[in-house]
Amino acid sequence: MMNKYDYLIVGAGLYGAVFAQQAKERGKSVLVIDRRPHIAGNVYTETVEGIHVHRYGAHIFHTNDRAVWAYVNRFAEFNRFTNSPVANYKGELYSLPFNMYTFNKMWGVVTPQEAAAEIERQRREAGIAELRNLEEQAISLVGRDIYEKLVKGYTEKQWGRPCTELPAFIIRRLPVRLTFDNNYFSALYQGIPVGGYTRMVENMLDGIEVRLGVDYL
Ligand SMILES: Cc1cc2nc3c(=O)[nH]c(=O)nc-3n(C[C@H](O)[C@H](O)[C@H](O)COP(=O)(O)OP(=O)(O)OC[C@H]3O[C@@H](n4cnc5c(N)ncnc54)[C@H](O)[C@@H]3O)c2cc1C
Repeated sequence: MMNKYDYLIVGAGLYGAVFAQQAKERGKSVLVIDRRPHIAGNVYTETVEGIHVHRYGAHIFHTNDRAVWAYVNRFAEFNRFTNSPVANYKGELYSLPFNMYTFNKMWGVVTPQEAAAEIERQRREAGIAELRNLEEQAISLVGRDIYEKLVKGYTEKQWGRPCTELPAFIIRRLPVRLTFDNNYFSALYQGIPVGGYTRMVENMLDGIEVRLGVDYL
Protein backbone atom coordinates (compact mmCIF):
# COMPACT_ATOMS: atom_id res chain seq x y z
CA MET A 1 0.00 0.00 0.00
CA MET A 2 1.23 3.51 -0.82
CA ASN A 3 1.82 5.90 2.08
CA LYS A 4 -0.63 8.75 1.93
CA TYR A 5 1.85 11.21 3.45
CA ASP A 6 5.54 11.80 3.02
CA TYR A 7 5.76 13.05 6.60
CA LEU A 8 3.83 12.69 9.83
CA ILE A 9 4.72 15.64 12.02
CA VAL A 10 4.07 15.30 15.73
CA GLY A 11 3.47 18.71 17.33
CA ALA A 12 1.94 21.83 15.81
CA GLY A 13 4.27 24.23 17.66
CA LEU A 14 6.78 26.48 15.89
CA TYR A 15 9.07 23.61 15.00
CA GLY A 16 6.34 21.40 13.55
CA ALA A 17 4.70 24.27 11.71
CA VAL A 18 7.96 25.45 10.13
CA PHE A 19 8.90 21.92 9.11
CA ALA A 20 5.44 21.28 7.64
CA GLN A 21 5.48 24.57 5.75
CA GLN A 22 8.95 23.95 4.35
CA ALA A 23 8.13 20.36 3.35
CA LYS A 24 4.93 21.42 1.60
CA GLU A 25 6.81 24.18 -0.21
CA ARG A 26 9.10 21.44 -1.56
CA GLY A 27 6.16 19.42 -2.83
CA LYS A 28 5.89 16.94 0.03
CA SER A 29 2.60 15.84 1.52
CA VAL A 30 2.40 16.19 5.29
CA LEU A 31 0.07 15.46 8.17
CA VAL A 32 0.47 17.41 11.41
CA ILE A 33 -0.95 16.12 14.68
CA ASP A 34 -1.00 17.65 18.14
CA ARG A 35 -2.37 16.27 21.37
CA ARG A 36 -3.48 19.72 22.48
CA PRO A 37 -6.81 21.07 21.25
CA HIS A 38 -5.05 23.95 19.44
CA ILE A 39 -2.11 24.68 17.13
CA ALA A 40 0.96 26.87 17.91
CA GLY A 41 2.28 24.89 20.91
CA ASN A 42 3.76 27.05 23.62
CA VAL A 43 3.44 30.28 21.65
CA TYR A 44 -0.35 29.79 21.46
CA THR A 45 -2.28 33.05 21.86
CA GLU A 46 -6.01 33.43 22.41
CA THR A 47 -8.07 36.60 22.16
CA VAL A 48 -9.81 37.64 25.37
CA GLU A 49 -11.79 40.90 25.23
CA GLY A 50 -9.68 42.10 22.33
CA ILE A 51 -6.35 41.26 24.01
CA HIS A 52 -3.96 38.56 22.79
CA VAL A 53 -3.33 36.42 25.86
CA HIS A 54 -0.16 34.30 25.68
CA ARG A 55 -1.54 31.29 27.51
CA TYR A 56 1.76 29.54 28.24
CA GLY A 57 3.74 32.66 29.11
CA ALA A 58 4.67 35.88 27.32
CA HIS A 59 6.61 35.39 24.08
CA ILE A 60 8.70 37.93 22.24
CA PHE A 61 10.12 36.69 18.98
CA HIS A 62 13.81 37.52 18.65
CA THR A 63 16.56 36.58 16.23
CA ASN A 64 19.83 37.89 14.84
CA ASP A 65 19.31 36.03 11.61
CA ARG A 66 18.01 38.14 8.75
CA ALA A 67 16.73 35.09 6.84
CA VAL A 68 14.74 33.88 9.87
CA TRP A 69 13.25 37.35 10.31
CA ALA A 70 12.32 37.55 6.62
CA TYR A 71 10.79 34.08 6.88
CA VAL A 72 8.47 34.79 9.82
CA ASN A 73 7.46 38.09 8.26
CA ARG A 74 5.95 36.09 5.41
CA PHE A 75 3.32 34.82 7.83
CA ALA A 76 2.73 37.73 10.19
CA GLU A 77 3.17 41.43 10.54
CA PHE A 78 5.28 42.18 13.60
CA ASN A 79 5.02 45.17 15.93
CA ARG A 80 8.16 46.92 17.18
CA PHE A 81 7.97 45.54 20.71
CA THR A 82 11.12 45.79 22.79
CA ASN A 83 11.12 43.73 25.96
CA SER A 84 12.00 46.20 28.74
CA PRO A 85 10.70 44.67 31.95
CA VAL A 86 10.15 46.79 35.04
CA ALA A 87 10.35 45.35 38.56
CA ASN A 88 8.09 46.73 41.27
CA TYR A 89 9.76 46.49 44.68
CA LYS A 90 7.32 47.88 47.27
CA GLY A 91 6.32 50.70 44.93
CA GLU A 92 9.88 51.44 43.74
CA LEU A 93 10.18 50.75 40.00
CA TYR A 94 13.43 49.34 38.63
CA SER A 95 14.49 48.62 35.05
CA LEU A 96 15.53 45.09 34.14
CA PRO A 97 17.82 43.44 33.26
CA PHE A 98 20.16 45.05 35.83
CA ASN A 99 21.80 47.98 34.06
CA MET A 100 22.85 51.58 34.64
CA TYR A 101 19.22 52.80 34.80
CA THR A 102 18.65 50.27 37.60
CA PHE A 103 21.77 51.34 39.50
CA ASN A 104 21.09 55.04 39.03
CA LYS A 105 17.63 54.60 40.55
CA MET A 106 18.96 52.45 43.37
CA TRP A 107 22.09 54.37 44.41
CA GLY A 108 22.08 57.62 42.42
CA VAL A 109 25.29 56.55 40.63
CA VAL A 110 25.87 57.95 37.15
CA THR A 111 28.99 56.30 35.75
CA PRO A 112 29.77 52.59 35.21
CA GLN A 113 32.81 52.98 37.51
CA GLU A 114 30.61 54.21 40.38
CA ALA A 115 28.15 51.35 39.88
CA ALA A 116 30.88 48.71 39.74
CA ALA A 117 32.47 50.18 42.88
CA GLU A 118 29.18 50.04 44.81
CA ILE A 119 28.55 46.42 43.79
CA GLU A 120 32.10 45.53 44.81
CA ARG A 121 31.73 47.37 48.14
CA GLN A 122 28.53 45.44 48.96
CA ARG A 123 30.07 42.14 47.90
CA ARG A 124 33.03 42.71 50.22
CA GLU A 125 30.85 43.98 53.04
CA ALA A 126 28.82 40.76 52.91
CA GLY A 127 32.10 38.82 53.25
CA ILE A 128 30.47 35.47 52.64
CA ALA A 129 33.12 32.75 52.56
CA GLU A 130 31.09 29.60 52.17
CA LEU A 131 28.16 29.64 49.72
CA ARG A 132 25.58 27.42 51.39
CA ASN A 133 22.43 28.52 49.57
CA LEU A 134 21.05 30.75 46.80
CA GLU A 135 20.81 33.79 49.08
CA GLU A 136 24.51 33.66 49.98
CA GLN A 137 25.44 32.98 46.36
CA ALA A 138 23.44 35.95 45.07
CA ILE A 139 24.71 38.40 47.72
CA SER A 140 28.29 37.36 47.05
CA LEU A 141 27.73 37.97 43.32
CA VAL A 142 25.89 41.32 43.28
CA GLY A 143 25.63 42.61 46.86
CA ARG A 144 22.70 42.97 49.22
CA ASP A 145 20.61 45.73 47.55
CA ILE A 146 20.21 44.00 44.19
CA TYR A 147 19.57 40.71 45.93
CA GLU A 148 16.95 42.07 48.34
CA LYS A 149 15.12 44.21 45.79
CA LEU A 150 15.44 42.36 42.50
CA VAL A 151 16.34 38.71 43.08
CA LYS A 152 14.79 37.51 46.35
CA GLY A 153 11.04 38.03 45.81
CA TYR A 154 11.04 36.93 42.18
CA THR A 155 13.11 33.81 42.85
CA GLU A 156 11.03 32.77 45.86
CA LYS A 157 7.83 33.25 43.86
CA GLN A 158 9.14 31.19 40.93
CA TRP A 159 10.54 28.34 43.05
CA GLY A 160 7.94 28.49 45.82
CA ARG A 161 10.66 28.28 48.50
CA PRO A 162 12.81 30.71 50.52
CA CYS A 163 16.16 31.52 48.88
CA THR A 164 17.90 30.18 51.99
CA GLU A 165 16.45 26.76 51.19
CA LEU A 166 17.47 26.79 47.53
CA PRO A 167 20.85 25.43 46.40
CA ALA A 168 23.53 27.94 45.42
CA PHE A 169 24.24 26.33 42.04
CA ILE A 170 20.95 27.63 40.58
CA ILE A 171 22.61 31.00 40.00
CA ARG A 172 26.25 30.69 39.06
CA ARG A 173 26.19 34.22 37.71
CA LEU A 174 23.83 37.19 37.49
CA PRO A 175 24.21 39.34 34.39
CA VAL A 176 25.08 42.94 35.26
CA ARG A 177 25.22 45.50 32.48
CA LEU A 178 27.26 48.60 33.06
CA THR A 179 25.53 50.36 30.14
CA PHE A 180 22.28 52.31 29.83
CA ASP A 181 20.33 49.55 28.09
CA ASN A 182 16.87 48.30 29.13
CA ASN A 183 16.52 45.94 26.17
CA TYR A 184 16.14 42.42 27.57
CA PHE A 185 17.16 40.66 24.36
CA SER A 186 20.26 41.68 22.48
CA ALA A 187 18.89 40.31 19.19
CA LEU A 188 18.83 42.61 16.19
CA TYR A 189 15.25 41.73 15.22
CA GLN A 190 12.43 41.40 17.74
CA GLY A 191 8.69 41.83 17.94
CA ILE A 192 5.30 40.21 18.50
CA PRO A 193 2.95 39.30 15.65
CA VAL A 194 0.25 41.98 15.46
CA GLY A 195 -2.48 39.35 14.97
CA GLY A 196 -1.08 36.99 17.63
CA TYR A 197 1.13 33.91 17.25
CA THR A 198 -1.80 31.58 16.63
CA ARG A 199 -2.69 33.46 13.44
CA MET A 200 0.97 33.34 12.33
CA VAL A 201 1.11 29.56 12.81
CA GLU A 202 -2.28 29.22 11.11
CA ASN A 203 -0.78 30.99 8.09
CA MET A 204 2.23 28.66 8.13
CA LEU A 205 -0.11 25.66 8.18
CA ASP A 206 -2.30 27.02 5.40
CA GLY A 207 -3.38 24.16 3.13
CA ILE A 208 -1.84 21.53 5.43
CA GLU A 209 -3.90 18.81 7.10
CA VAL A 210 -3.86 19.20 10.88
CA ARG A 211 -5.50 16.89 13.40
CA LEU A 212 -5.84 18.23 16.94
CA GLY A 213 -6.43 16.32 20.15
CA VAL A 214 -4.43 13.38 18.75
CA ASP A 215 -1.62 11.92 20.84
CA TYR A 216 1.04 10.17 18.76
CA LEU A 217 1.76 7.73 21.56
C1 LIG B 1 7.09 30.75 29.63
C2 LIG B 1 7.92 30.72 28.34
C3 LIG B 1 8.38 31.90 27.77
C4 LIG B 1 9.14 31.86 26.61
N1 LIG B 1 9.51 33.04 26.05
C5 LIG B 1 10.15 33.06 24.88
C6 LIG B 1 10.42 34.29 24.23
O1 LIG B 1 10.09 35.36 24.74
N2 LIG B 1 11.07 34.26 23.02
C7 LIG B 1 11.44 33.06 22.44
O2 LIG B 1 12.01 33.09 21.35
N3 LIG B 1 11.18 31.87 23.04
C8 LIG B 1 10.55 31.84 24.22
N4 LIG B 1 10.25 30.63 24.81
C9 LIG B 1 10.64 29.40 24.11
C10 LIG B 1 9.59 29.02 23.03
O3 LIG B 1 8.33 28.81 23.66
C11 LIG B 1 9.99 27.71 22.38
O4 LIG B 1 11.30 27.80 21.91
C12 LIG B 1 9.08 27.33 21.20
O5 LIG B 1 7.73 27.61 21.43
C13 LIG B 1 9.30 25.84 21.00
O6 LIG B 1 8.54 25.39 19.90
P1 LIG B 1 8.45 23.84 19.63
O7 LIG B 1 7.61 23.66 18.42
O8 LIG B 1 9.80 23.23 19.64
O9 LIG B 1 7.74 23.24 20.95
P2 LIG B 1 6.25 23.44 21.50
O10 LIG B 1 5.73 24.81 21.26
O11 LIG B 1 6.28 22.93 22.91
O12 LIG B 1 5.38 22.46 20.61
C14 LIG B 1 5.42 21.06 20.77
C15 LIG B 1 4.03 20.53 20.52
O13 LIG B 1 4.09 19.12 20.46
C16 LIG B 1 2.94 18.59 21.04
N5 LIG B 1 3.21 17.22 21.45
C17 LIG B 1 4.14 16.80 22.33
N6 LIG B 1 4.09 15.46 22.46
C18 LIG B 1 3.09 15.02 21.65
C19 LIG B 1 2.54 13.73 21.35
N7 LIG B 1 3.00 12.62 21.92
N8 LIG B 1 1.51 13.65 20.47
C20 LIG B 1 1.02 14.75 19.88
N9 LIG B 1 1.50 16.00 20.12
C21 LIG B 1 2.53 16.13 21.00
C22 LIG B 1 2.66 19.51 22.21
O14 LIG B 1 1.29 19.46 22.59
C23 LIG B 1 3.03 20.89 21.63
O15 LIG B 1 1.93 21.60 21.11
C24 LIG B 1 9.49 30.62 26.01
C25 LIG B 1 9.03 29.44 26.59
C26 LIG B 1 8.24 29.45 27.74
C27 LIG B 1 7.74 28.15 28.34
